[in-house]
Amino acid sequence: MDNTSSERIRRRLIFFPLPLQGHISPMLHLANILHSKGFSITILHLKLNPPNPANHPHFTFRLIVDDDFSKESFNADLVSFLALLNDKCVEPLKQALLAEGDAVACLISDAIFHFTTGVCESLRLPRIVLRTGGVCSFLAFAAFPLLLEKSYLPLRDDRLEEAVIELPPLRIKDLPVINTPHQDMLYELVQEMVHQTKASSGLIWNSFQELEETSIAKLHQDFQIPIFPIGPFHKHNVNSNSNSNSNAPSSQNHSSISWLDKQVPKSVIYVSFGSIATIEEPEFLEVAWGLASSKHPFLWVIRPGLVRGAEWLEMLPGGFLDGLNGRGHIVKWAPQLEVLAHPSVGVFWTHCGWNSTLESICEGMPMICTPCFTDQRVNARYVSHVWKVGEQIEKELNRERIERAVRRLMEEREGEEVRERALFYKEVANVCVRPGGSSYDSLSKLVKYLSFS
Ligand code: UDP
Repeated sequence: MDNTSSERIRRRLIFFPLPLQGHISPMLHLANILHSKGFSITILHLKLNPPNPANHPHFTFRLIVDDDFSKESFNADLVSFLALLNDKCVEPLKQALLAEGDAVACLISDAIFHFTTGVCESLRLPRIVLRTGGVCSFLAFAAFPLLLEKSYLPLRDDRLEEAVIELPPLRIKDLPVINTPHQDMLYELVQEMVHQTKASSGLIWNSFQELEETSIAKLHQDFQIPIFPIGPFHKHNVNSNSNSNSNAPSSQNHSSISWLDKQVPKSVIYVSFGSIATIEEPEFLEVAWGLASSKHPFLWVIRPGLVRGAEWLEMLPGGFLDGLNGRGHIVKWAPQLEVLAHPSVGVFWTHCGWNSTLESICEGMPMICTPCFTDQRVNARYVSHVWKVGEQIEKELNRERIERAVRRLMEEREGEEVRERALFYKEVANVCVRPGGSSYDSLSKLVKYLSFS
């Protein structure tokens, strides 16, 4: 450790992740990276989806709100859940930060926790924002006032296919909205997220320059704050368990890898729609029949609660798996980073959450995209039309479309360009975190910035 690092060792960074898997994992990865650079780490958390301290013995964990207020609201509506968190956490966060004392360098806050600006200002503490999504979707969020003014929003069923001329290559149906009875609350939340990000002392991205060059250039124009694209976080060479997904539920099913070990190279379809998306029964059945008729082996993550109205597998047609003679394997949760790196996997059928998208890109894995809501729609459009490392199955989801997409991406010459581009981005993602790479350099700048700000 050089002199600068040893001076830094007493500086503490306070992390406050949003309590959702897709937000907690990248923040813990980031905490690991910065810990390896000499910072002490405190993770503040709620009762919902608490991180497991045993996986991070080198961090200090503090529960700041000791009640379950968020659970019910989370199950009812994502937008009101996020608004509620921004309301209820003000005082607990303030008290937690006061208790940390003087050695704190800054708070690293999820972008969606926009209320943290006010708390940090009152304590004269710098606030750095981590946006756990991609830059491309953030720019679409930042354009909401324009999209409302030009009547692209609210969405209208008869205009969904129209191009959004100001945000190529997005169509109206790719805009990052979500079904909620509280549309106005959504617009307000997005506006606050963008506004308070602009007001922050810096902005960290789990993305990399080469992947989002155009979007990052636009971001620099519109946001006059230091910007640090230092991803993919999980690819940094950090001596900890950060190579596996650090907040995985304890029920993680290890049978996935032993099942994959028995399959032919590049033959398996890996299917997962992330940690919060839900689908309706008819769509679920089309996925099942599409996989069955694809003739490929498949590893399918069916989370309890994935299918609306079902506990777990009860909506699968009777005898579905038995009829496949071992060609299908269903789990509640898979070690996704390891699955995507496994030689048997040939395609990832994903909802295009940002983590899943990035993890797939890092492994050179072509994607079949079925976005459900918010930024997933933007990510899917970029996967298919900008990076060209996958293709989107457009609604309505049906077994013929699924079969066709699988054949194209896994078997046919038509999919060759996609497979090659996927491998190209894998290489770029690996290089950017090595010495001299764009994310490596950006991380060095971030460490300096945090050390002396
Ligand atoms: N994940 C996993 N196993 C699973 C499903 C998901 O490890 O069976 C991880 C995945 O690797 C990713 C995260 O959960 O890091 C999901 O985040 P993403 O942004 O893709 O989607 P979200 O869950 O936020 O919709």
